[in-house]
Amino acid sequence: MKLKKKISTLQVLNNRSDECLFSPNPIVSQKRKELIIEQTLDQDRYFTSHKAMIASRDLCCRVFFDIHKYDSLVTPLAIQLNLVEFVELFDSKQ
Ligand SMILES: [Zn+2]
Repeated sequence: MKLKKKISTLQVLNNRSDECLFSPNPIVSQKRKELIIEQTLDQDRYFTSHKAMIASRDLCCRVFFDIHKYDSLVTPLAIQLNLVEFVELFDSKQ
């Protein structure tokens, strides 16, 4: 197990992306979507936004956070410790 010296925050996308898994027409099938969410919760992880993944950033999907923040282990912990940070996918400098 790798130990991080610096405390990192849980970064959550500020807005739902237009390719969100939780959108009415997600890019995967309904079954696949349920499986992904189930696996994510089973592993007590959070779901990384697809858009963020493409941009090589590890940002929690906003809708996952809103719906499942108390269903996983890592998200309630981050909330409890005040380590949640809402961020834009691309900062405005670009
Ligand atoms: Zn999303």
